[in-house]
Amino acid sequence: MNKRQKKKAIFGYRMSNTKIRKRIKNIKLLDKPKTIYDGFGISDAFCPFCGCDLIKWSGNKVSYLELWETGYCARCGEKIAGADNGPYHHILRDMLEYPEATIKELQELY
Ligand SMILES: [Zn+2]
Repeated sequence: MNKRQKKKAIFGYRMSNTKIRKRIKNIKLLDKPKTIYDGFGISDAFCPFCGCDLIKWSGNKVSYLELWETGYCARCGEKIAGADNGPYHHILRDMLEYPEATIKELQELY
């Protein structure tokens, strides 16, 4: 099995942009997360760039007691989540909460 076949076997086919847009429209904002244990505060969390559900975490990038973690899409590698001494942010929640910000601006925060 080559690398590409392996990827398909693990992730399945990439979601179409129409499907991704529909899925984003159906997301509901839940209570705003207050701690790192509260999850993302949205009804559905996936990568808005390719529709993948898997997040690859960086692991803590600062020493203990501090928390700074970044989450990348396991399929396309885009930055889609992060935590900086507070609850985990997911780009989809931030997109809904701050509609005036661009995706690029939000990604810089993680
Ligand atoms: Zn992705």
